[in-house]
Amino acid sequence: MKTIPRIENIYRPEATRVEDYNEVERKFNAEELTMQASRCMDCGIPFCHGLGCPLGNVIPEMNEAVRTLNWKRAYEILSKTSNMPEFTSRVCPAICENACTKNIENIPVMIRQLEKSVIENAFENGYVKQIIPENKSGKNVAVVGAGPSGLYMAFELYKKGHNVTVYEKRKYAGGLLRYGIPDFKLEKNIIERRIDILKASGIDFQFNTEIGKDIAAEYLNKKYDATVLAIGTPEPRDLQIKGRKLKNIYFALDFLSGQNMFIGKEINKLPINVKGKDVVIIGGGDTGSDCLGTSIRQKAANITQIEIMPEPPKERSASTPWPDWPYELKTSSSHKEGGTRLWAKVVKEFHGTNGAVTSIDLVDAAWDFSPDGKPLSFKEVEGTLTNIKADYVFIAMGFLGVDNNSFIKDLYLEADKRGRVEGNPSQGIFTCGDMKTGQSLVVRAMANAKETAKDVDDYLKGV
Ligand SMILES: Cc1cc2nc3c(=O)[nH]c(=O)nc-3n(C[C@H](O)[C@H](O)[C@H](O)COP(=O)(O)OP(=O)(O)OC[C@H]3O[C@@H](n4cnc5c(N)ncnc54)[C@H](O)[C@@H]3O)c2cc1C
Ligand code: SF4
Repeated sequence: MKTIPRIENIYRPEATRVEDYNEVERKFNAEELTMQASRCMDCGIPFCHGLGCPLGNVIPEMNEAVRTLNWKRAYEILSKTSNMPEFTSRVCPAICENACTKNIENIPVMIRQLEKSVIENAFENGYVKQIIPENKSGKNVAVVGAGPSGLYMAFELYKKGHNVTVYEKRKYAGGLLRYGIPDFKLEKNIIERRIDILKASGIDFQFNTEIGKDIAAEYLNKKYDATVLAIGTPEPRDLQIKGRKLKNIYFALDFLSGQNMFIGKEINKLPINVKGKDVVIIGGGDTGSDCLGTSIRQKAANITQIEIMPEPPKERSASTPWPDWPYELKTSSSHKEGGTRLWAKVVKEFHGTNGAVTSIDLVDAAWDFSPDGKPLSFKEVEGTLTNIKADYVFIAMGFLGVDNNSFIKDLYLEADKRGRVEGNPSQGIFTCGDMKTGQSLVVRAMANAKETAKDVDDYLKGV
């Protein structure tokens, strides 16, 4: 039997894609999709479904429907477990593909791209319809925050028959899908397409409305039968070292949201423009990688991404055998486009002239590893001080969660040490998404909303 290889070439050519902000992934034709779907072995124990996908997508059946180009059937299967696959199929790190049995040989089925083909086909063919509630309960729910978890919650509760109003402090919906993740990963018309359906179904959206400022949280709690908070993890982790107050040192989201708002014509001037400048990004994760891709498109002169952790192995480390999430080097589409990655570096001090940053001091970190290769702890190495030029610095070191001084205190809620907030279900107050679990992924925020919606529904049945 002829073996069909996994397609490796999934992006548009680098030379042209860095000239625009459109999605970097190329389109796949029907032949490529059927061939890729036919790589699925329809495993007796489908790890992709059981262990991989947090939403529980029934992947082998979806793959089979794609293989036979039965798009309607594929959409019916996918939409049973996932309300908004157009987002996950674009930005998910594909936990399902990691769990895929074929990933034992590093050649998983291209589940994410197959999922994207199913939902895009469904939109093109008019299969995606307004939500028809199971039956109307007459109960009213307020959802605070229109990020992926708030939107998923609104969808689920509306489907279960409740009236839903979503309060969002920004002008548009999407949360970090819109104001964090760059257009080159997710074009924003994809969000508006879904919001149009949610609105047409009957979900009410109140934009430019900040709870705790424009409307008191206690008011929501009194007015609605239940209130669900889905405000994400707004507090970024800072780097309080000498020189931090210098100009042109920003949190990553200030840079990314400015670029996204400019593309979306919400503002008519880029708030931060790094054209021709030396950029240093502190943090080697996804947010840092998004700053890299954005800096490349803005035509920065030099871009350096610094990470305190050591460079992971090129292939899965023995410390994370399949089907664990692998400890291995991740190379994003932005990393393929340019920039320099520095590993095992500690940022010591910012230097500047005339009040603006000009360079950064770094020292090497020497790491100790566990016998199976996991980095455990580090020491700074004497005599390794270096200084690199920096006209702009973006801090991409993750998020601390929710601040206890925010409006949550008006509802007698408290964040734990990691900034996560549990609701008070007996009082009809619920939380979901990153706010509840800590900073995570779009798919996990949605899966958490899906689970929490069941609790909200149970609560509403009793009031
Ligand atoms: C730069 C960046 C890139 C990322 N890339 C990826 C990726 O590629 N793949 C992936 O899976 N995950 C990614 N993530 C993580 C992902 O975006 C989050 O896990 C996800 O958005 C969390 O969803 P959420 O709905 O819980 O919170 P959020 O998306 O943060 O949404 C919270 C919403 O609440 C609103 N809000 C806050 N306070 C109030 C208030 N008082 N009143 C009214 N509204 C309020 C906010 O404006 C926002 O719209 C990324 C994160 C960042 C920062
Ligand atoms: S684990 Fe991979 S090969 Fe097996 S059913 Fe799932 S997608 Fe198909």
